[in-house]
Amino acid sequence: MTKTVSHWIGGKPVEGTSGSYGPVTDPATGEVTTRVSFADASEVDAAVAAAKAAYPDWGGSSLAQRTGILFAFRALVHAHRDELARLITAEHGKVHADALGEVARGLEIIDLACGIPNQLKGELSTQVSQRVDVATIRQPLGVVAGITPFNFPAMVPMWMFPIAIACGNTFVLKPSEKDPSASLRLAELLAEAGLPDGVFNVVQGDKVAVDRLLEHPDVAAVSFVGSTPIARHIHRTASAHGKRVQALGGAKNHMLVLPDADLDAAADAAVSAAYGSAGERCMAVSAVVAVGAIGDELVARIRERAEKIVIGPGSDPASQMGPLITAAHRDKVASYVSGAAAQGCDVVLDGSGHTVEGYENGHWVGVSLLDRVPVTADAYRDEIFGPVLSVVRADTYEEGLALINASPYGNGVAIFTRDGGAARRFQMEVEVGMVGVNVPIPVPVGYHSFGGWKDSLFGDHHVYGNDGARFYTRGKAITSRWPDPADAPSGVDLGFPKNH
Ligand code: NAD
Repeated sequence: MTKTVSHWIGGKPVEGTSGSYGPVTDPATGEVTTRVSFADASEVDAAVAAAKAAYPDWGGSSLAQRTGILFAFRALVHAHRDELARLITAEHGKVHADALGEVARGLEIIDLACGIPNQLKGELSTQVSQRVDVATIRQPLGVVAGITPFNFPAMVPMWMFPIAIACGNTFVLKPSEKDPSASLRLAELLAEAGLPDGVFNVVQGDKVAVDRLLEHPDVAAVSFVGSTPIARHIHRTASAHGKRVQALGGAKNHMLVLPDADLDAAADAAVSAAYGSAGERCMAVSAVVAVGAIGDELVARIRERAEKIVIGPGSDPASQMGPLITAAHRDKVASYVSGAAAQGCDVVLDGSGHTVEGYENGHWVGVSLLDRVPVTADAYRDEIFGPVLSVVRADTYEEGLALINASPYGNGVAIFTRDGGAARRFQMEVEVGMVGVNVPIPVPVGYHSFGGWKDSLFGDHHVYGNDGARFYTRGKAITSRWPDPADAPSGVDLGFPKNH
């Protein structure tokens, strides 16, 4: 092990001083390749202090200055997209093309941040009363923090910091300890783009670092993306410390296939959305609900496609699906498949025990397909976060909808149908934050916000879109009166001010 991933504080890499480290593994080989410093409370305090010191100048900088730096950053991320994708693959395991897709979706949010002046224009009402005008402006919060998951080590941080800093805040990122290198590369590119020292900081670590951020008196707001139990903890703890919080949690995304759907398109979509990134996406489809008599045919077409997926290291251009993040996660995912039959599922494809020649210690689970899955089965109830697709049978649209709405999660959902009326009814009735109509992974574009309902999001703001700028700013309403020299003196009036 030659490399240590450090923190980034005050515009430069800073070696950890806590003496605590975590291993970073190449999921394709199972080898520990790197170690990452775990910050203690004093290191978190140093990052927050750097962000606090940078805030007066950055918060007071012009929109032209900020967007100029973001345009330069956008060009650098684009120029280094291949390198960033390789870093992601080496620590996360996803295939290179998928990692490039992640960087591309991050670039969309930098685009949005480059146009932030449009979202910060404020409002003005003139002559609300005699010679009285009211303006509403939006101002930054101060130091804000982002805590991010392993599955999108570049994109999810880019959901947050470009908008936060475009709005004039300074930022402390705590990335996933499982694949921390992309965060440091992004920090270097921000510095190269001309971002002043201290505006963007990274503290590596685990719960110790997170919990210090949640209680730190100088952190004004916390954005979190990760699993539901941790999202709940973040929301409760940061709220209890008086912070603004948005905490996006886990998911169990359904795809409802009506009897009139194009079954080939539905099967293509189900396979792409279930097994892409080995199922480690919060917008992965993990449950297909087949309505009516199409179930057997749909399962046959899914199986035919799924069996052909090429599994191998993400760095091999021939691979379509890579390994899972850790050996422990591999074992957990495999246990859902090996335990499925005993819980009443038909096991159509069993990927537990899968290996790849030459990479025997990699974290592999092969494509797994379960049919006629009872809603009581663990494979249906839990977020598996692996390449395991469950098919549930329903007799009617209403039965399928009720099943989806009974899920505690509400992140993404899709309907496949040729019936516009049914699709419209579904988009109105389903209790989920992001809906796809013949689109399996409905991740909104940068200028529409991303976020789920129910246990998939705690807090009231989605990320990016219009919600991003609202989350990272606070409103101020200014009422002004500039009397005309000809006005008579108003005199003392103890009555509540009336407009006239
Ligand atoms: P995780 O919840 O384990 O970790 C997320 C972050 O929280 C990491 O930075 C981690 O270090 C930190 N953390 C972990 N345990 C903690 C604790 N006890 N106290 C404080 N901090 C803690 O999630 P993960 O495994 O990295 O990512 C996968 C999860 O993220 C899945 O559930 C997935 O659905 C979810 N996710 C959701 C979205 C979304 O937009 N809703 C997007 C991506 C991922």
